[in-house]
Amino acid sequence: MTTTLSPSLPKVDNTFRKSVPPLEVPERLLLGPGPSNANPAVVAAMNRQPIGHLDPAYLHLMDEVQTLLRYAWQTANQMTLPISGTGSAAMEATLANAVEPGDVVLVGVNGYFGHRLVDMAERYRAEVKTINQPWGEVFSLQALRAALEEHRPQILALVHAETSTGARQPLEGVGDLCREYDCLLLIDTVTSLGGVPIFLDEWKVDLAYSCSQKGLSCPPGSSPFTMSERALAKLDKRQTKVANWYLDISMLRNYWGQGRVYHHTAPVNMTYAIREALRLLAEEGVENSWQRHQSTAEKLWDGLQDLGLECHVPKDYRLPTLTTVRVPEGIEAKAVTKRLLEEHNLEIGNGLGELGGKVWRIGLMGYNSRPENVDQVLSALAAVLAKLR
Ligand SMILES: *Cc1c(COP(=O)(O)O)cnc(C)c1O
Repeated sequence: MTTTLSPSLPKVDNTFRKSVPPLEVPERLLLGPGPSNANPAVVAAMNRQPIGHLDPAYLHLMDEVQTLLRYAWQTANQMTLPISGTGSAAMEATLANAVEPGDVVLVGVNGYFGHRLVDMAERYRAEVKTINQPWGEVFSLQALRAALEEHRPQILALVHAETSTGARQPLEGVGDLCREYDCLLLIDTVTSLGGVPIFLDEWKVDLAYSCSQKGLSCPPGSSPFTMSERALAKLDKRQTKVANWYLDISMLRNYWGQGRVYHHTAPVNMTYAIREALRLLAEEGVENSWQRHQSTAEKLWDGLQDLGLECHVPKDYRLPTLTTVRVPEGIEAKAVTKRLLEEHNLEIGNGLGELGGKVWRIGLMGYNSRPENVDQVLSALAAVLAKLR
């Protein structure tokens, strides 16, 4: 008997089938918490035919990405690679590989992403402890020491650049503290990599992750991950398998390292993209990129002050990549972001979590960190506020 397409199969509505138009994407200036606009050179790089993920040319490209990534982070960590997926995948990779059930993980919670770390660590069955600060503030060395003394964790996790608040956690001395208390230091550099000074090795950071779509001028989908020899030693001593097959570094290391053993199909075009993004960062020089982000942000801060607007975070630890601006009395925050998008093709972020309705979030990251973008967001904001007042 031959199989035929049964006319009695239940039918789904397919009347739309020939009327779906080809893809069209509006042109936006993305000055929110991410994604940011990608550098056109990066978009061009990913717009190539894929090659095989075991092709010698691809393997060479992987090596280049690793070298460039070590430079961006200022680390010599061998185990430095991009994880397939967005920043949260790389975030999960750090915890999945570092946490064994029952480990005490101490998380600094002073914003939305601290809570995400807590949630993830719990899912890997860590015993999670937190140290807390109001949203927009940071942790002092004394406070961290007291918490390490009290909880004696295996891992301390901190967010370097809290995108929900715009605060930069100082990290000088934190790694030494962690060595003293024999724990690993894990940091979130999603909104700092490329835009804010980072010295992973000097700071004695053991695990870090980032993303492609914020400071690296690249679309989302390939996310930097790194772990130190100390963190690898903990991985090698595990009694239990890493509870996440996709993100298991003990397997991924055989693809990124000597063996070149297939694990999962690499998102080949995303690797083209992040390679180009990291190449451009290296060409500019990280110090120059950090400087550019700082001076662009200062131009924004001055302009906001001229508009009578106030920043939420004190200048000492204010991020250059993401500025939280207080919403003035009598203005509905979301009405402003809506008009900016509709009337100016410009995206800025609304407040998240505790700061919902209280701040706007303006991102000046990577390719977007340029004075003309500051002029554009300031004039659009002035125009919209004038209409609403
Ligand atoms: C954006 C962000 C993440 C999550 O990254 P995704 O790419 O959205 O998955 C994690 N941490 C911080 C601080 C972020 O800003």
